[in-house]
Amino acid sequence: MKAALTRTFQIEAAHRLPRLPKGHKCERMHGHSFQVEVRVEGECDPKLGWLMDYADIKAAFHPLHEQLDHNCLNEVPGLENPTSEVLAKWIWDKLKPALPLLTTVTVAETCTARAEYRGE
Ligand SMILES: [Zn+2]
Repeated sequence: MKAALTRTFQIEAAHRLPRLPKGHKCERMHGHSFQVEVRVEGECDPKLGWLMDYADIKAAFHPLHEQLDHNCLNEVPGLENPTSEVLAKWIWDKLKPALPLLTTVTVAETCTARAEYRGE
């Protein structure tokens, strides 16, 4: 049986998008309550009846949460231009080695706008 699990994390962080033209609101420093969804997919363990422990997803994400939460994303190496798209890929690249079943990272910067990265 195949299944997918998604675990959601919240990151409070500031950022600005320095490559946008002066006057664009996102060029100015501002903050978001980012919702990050981490999705894993694969074959369930037939005996346990689950794909993996949600706690292991949380543990894999923990160092990234420490690095991002209540920080200015622009100051994090690799996030000099921290769009949601770039942030999703940054998280994916850091998580994949610890979470081989990872398929998708989604970063929502508001309730109605989200970016998805699937490792391509
Ligand atoms: Zn923003």
